[in-house]
Amino acid sequence: MRKPVMAGNWKMYKTAAEASAFFQKFVPLVAGVTHAEIVVCPPFVSLPAAVEATRETNIETGGQDVFWLKEGAYTGAISAPMLAATGSRWVIIGHSERRQYFGETDDSVFKKTVAALEAGLKPIVCVGERLEEREGNATEAVLATQCAEGIMRLLPEQFARITLAYEPVWAIGTGKTATPEIAAQAHHFLRQEIRKCYGADAAAACRILYGGSVKPDNIKGLMAQPDLDGALVGGASLDPESFASIVNF
Ligand code: PEP
Repeated sequence: MRKPVMAGNWKMYKTAAEASAFFQKFVPLVAGVTHAEIVVCPPFVSLPAAVEATRETNIETGGQDVFWLKEGAYTGAISAPMLAATGSRWVIIGHSERRQYFGETDDSVFKKTVAALEAGLKPIVCVGERLEEREGNATEAVLATQCAEGIMRLLPEQFARITLAYEPVWAIGTGKTATPEIAAQAHHFLRQEIRKCYGADAAAACRILYGGSVKPDNIKGLMAQPDLDGALVGGASLDPESFASIVNF
């Protein structure tokens, strides 16, 4: 049985004080939840406040990116051991906004994932096609390349510790959710790719989250798809009531 993961990606929103105010409302709304793991990924500077506010709760925290080296002259970068030292356990890697605005490549995704695993973090590694790629019938080819070059260079024991996220770029922050059927097809394809590379047991065990305009009113249909094991939620995770109602789908 794959336990769902409901993860919030706050992007560049919420100061430390705003994060604390969020958790004051959110913690009681999800206090009884055992059917899913709950993860919130604030901006780095708000992480200590988030870690503090979620101590002894059923909510874990994570970063939105990480650099692959441990330390050095890399202005602005945060290493995996630094992230782990905040008390956070998760990290999003390869988000399409990192790929689009910050030069993330499949190779850097691979290096960051290895570094995160070495620091004991749980990576949520993102893949997904752009609109023109979907319209050009290239979705599966794009996903296959992102998997082959960014993820499936991991050793089987490394792969076993990651969570995948399918995030069609055209659905992120646009209000255009993939229909449950479109998401299901992509998730099924990704699970086949995992099976080809790592075998049936690894494919059956790997959690694949969906991300892209997930909202309280569409989460149920998405979660009904057999290959879909949770959500990576951007905009709707910023509001405690709306994220709680997604978690409680
Ligand atoms: C995301 O940031 O990963 C995301 C899916 O954003 P949104 O839910 O706002 O589309």
